[in-house]
Amino acid sequence: MKEFLEKVYKGKQEEFYKEVEQKLLNEEKAFIITANPEILMVGNKDKEFDKILLDKNTTIIPDGIGVIKGAKMFGINIPGRITGVDLTLELIKLCDKYKKSMYLFGSTKEVISKMKILIEQKYSGVKLLGTQNGYVENKQEVMEDIKLKKPDVVLVALGVPKQERIIYNNLQDFEKGIFVGIGGSFDVISGSKKRAPKIFIKLNLEWLYRIAFSPSRWKRFYEGNIKYIFKIKKEIKEEKKKGKNR
Ligand code: UDP
Repeated sequence: MKEFLEKVYKGKQEEFYKEVEQKLLNEEKAFIITANPEILMVGNKDKEFDKILLDKNTTIIPDGIGVIKGAKMFGINIPGRITGVDLTLELIKLCDKYKKSMYLFGSTKEVISKMKILIEQKYSGVKLLGTQNGYVENKQEVMEDIKLKKPDVVLVALGVPKQERIIYNNLQDFEKGIFVGIGGSFDVISGSKKRAPKIFIKLNLEWLYRIAFSPSRWKRFYEGNIKYIFKIKKEIKEEKKKGKNR
């Protein structure tokens, strides 16, 4: 877990946005993972996903408060959250400002069509090269379409870890583009699913709001949070032991 947490981006949100803006303007290739404890736990269990997280070309940003708290337990300081929802909005605004192109892949038919309307009406500078819902049978086919269109920004909302896997497995075929797995961000931005009230966000309890309203998340909460804290504590204990034996 420490290895992942050490790799998490440690600047402030504004600094990160500036870096993303530069990458966009320079037509660079980037892969951004918006991390919460759950995603780090996938990396912990699954060798292939571990490789994705630690790859030098992936940037991990602290989406969930658990990432910041977990890092702190190891003495690693991360100044604040950079969420997938906020990054998605920022990328839409940047593409609007610089007339860059985007491709949106994932979420339901209704949500993706709301996103399309929102962008066309409010961010008309964006060149929307394609939108596709995330429930099509052949997801690789969509990736092939994206390859033909070569967008500047590709947002993939298929849930963790599907979205990261599909991006990573196709990344080598792109010369440029900012790729982000954004989870439920389209649901929130399109207004289909409400983000937690501001007070929950402020108190760092957004996660509590989310599980309270979808009980199916309880299991995920256990896997991704309770087990996560235990894992970190275990690693710290082992570190101390090693230190003593030296
Ligand atoms: N999703 C999708 N195809 C799938 C599974 C999920 O498009 O096969 C979408 C889902 O509609 C939602 C998004 O992926 O918009 C993220 O799902 P979830 O909230 O479960 O993921 P999280 O953000 O918690 O990782």
